[in-house]
Amino acid sequence: MSLRGFRQRRGPAALLRLIVIFIQLAVPVAEGSQLKPTTMDAHAALDFIDTSIENASPLWYDVADGVVRIHLIYDHERASPNRAAGHVHFLLNARPGTKLTLEFLNLDNVWNGQPGSVAGELKTMAISDDGHVWKTVPTESLPGNRVQLPVEMRGPALYVARMEPYRLSDLARLLESIRSHPLARITTIGKTAEGRDLEIVRIGNPAAPYRVFVRARAHPWEAGSNWVAEGLIRRLLRDDADAKRFLRLYSVTVLPMANKDGVARGRTRFNLRGRDLNRNWDKPADPELAPENAVLERWLEGEIAAGRRPHLALELHNDGNGRLHVSRPPVPQLERHLARMAIFEELLRSKTWFTEGSTNAAFRNSGTLGDGWLERYGIDAAVHEFNCNWIAGLKEYTSSRHWKDYGANLAEVFHDYFDRVKP
Ligand SMILES: [Zn+2]
Repeated sequence: MSLRGFRQRRGPAALLRLIVIFIQLAVPVAEGSQLKPTTMDAHAALDFIDTSIENASPLWYDVADGVVRIHLIYDHERASPNRAAGHVHFLLNARPGTKLTLEFLNLDNVWNGQPGSVAGELKTMAISDDGHVWKTVPTESLPGNRVQLPVEMRGPALYVARMEPYRLSDLARLLESIRSHPLARITTIGKTAEGRDLEIVRIGNPAAPYRVFVRARAHPWEAGSNWVAEGLIRRLLRDDADAKRFLRLYSVTVLPMANKDGVARGRTRFNLRGRDLNRNWDKPADPELAPENAVLERWLEGEIAAGRRPHLALELHNDGNGRLHVSRPPVPQLERHLARMAIFEELLRSKTWFTEGSTNAAFRNSGTLGDGWLERYGIDAAVHEFNCNWIAGLKEYTSSRHWKDYGANLAEVFHDYFDRVKP
């Protein structure tokens, strides 16, 4: 209401309302207050949303009806209707002690050519005061594929992320900490579309009887897959009796961050040239459009030529379900492969917190690394998703600690798999 309107109406109710508005503007909302944020509150409380931080998502924002609306930006697949948004990572600057409601917009993804809102999967977010110690908290679902996150500012800044982030600096720290370890060997196999080095980490002796290949982070929003890979690497380098026992039987090669450019730029799914790095594995990779896959393919073919074909390959991802995606391309050895994967799943259930189960015979997702490597190279390969919201086997929210534990326990799964299957 304007002052002129007040003068025109001059009633005691109008005077009271003017006083209330004045108090709302002048008094910061106290911590723990139940006052529902209004447009005025959110405008006054919000200072800035900082997307200059590492791995920040591209976005723009505004305030409407008391809600801070985060407009995520889609990334797109080349020559395809597919698009994706859903990576979230930014630094909220707002007045300490205020409560804000954030709403995430542009969740209408297109997946395998079909409309697929990511709203139903967006059940949690991770928040942090310092960007290092994170807490996973639930979001609120509203009708019409809307998702909100209520937050309370304990200080002047709050990091908000889709899940606990794993940044290029986290990878650099890992690589630096293992570089001089006698059992680790880091090799640069080529460059990403934007010229970043792609490192492969080998742990153990390649002359050990069996070899595992693990790739993580083909999709940039799926940070959990990176924490699992780190947990595996660190477990095998712990230099205890179990690690020695595991590495007598197998060596492991890890490509920890396949889509480095996407992680650097806070993208959701595709590489910088519009390719999905977990597609098109049914044919040779395009070195122009998917250099990240082309250099990996060249590395793999070199390993095979040198008599070091991996016996098992795992492609690590995050989604809202967390299942093991069993490959079923039309290959003569499919029954043998399915029997091996059944043993692998049984070991996951007994040695880790895995309870989510595997995809059935009706499920096909052609062109994944799992399908492609089985079909083209005869490697027992699968995609392993991790539920980004909830760990059913622990009845807990996700965290880097739980994912690293999972990676650590994979070391024993691999050992027992080779011990039983002897592929
Ligand atoms: Zn994925």
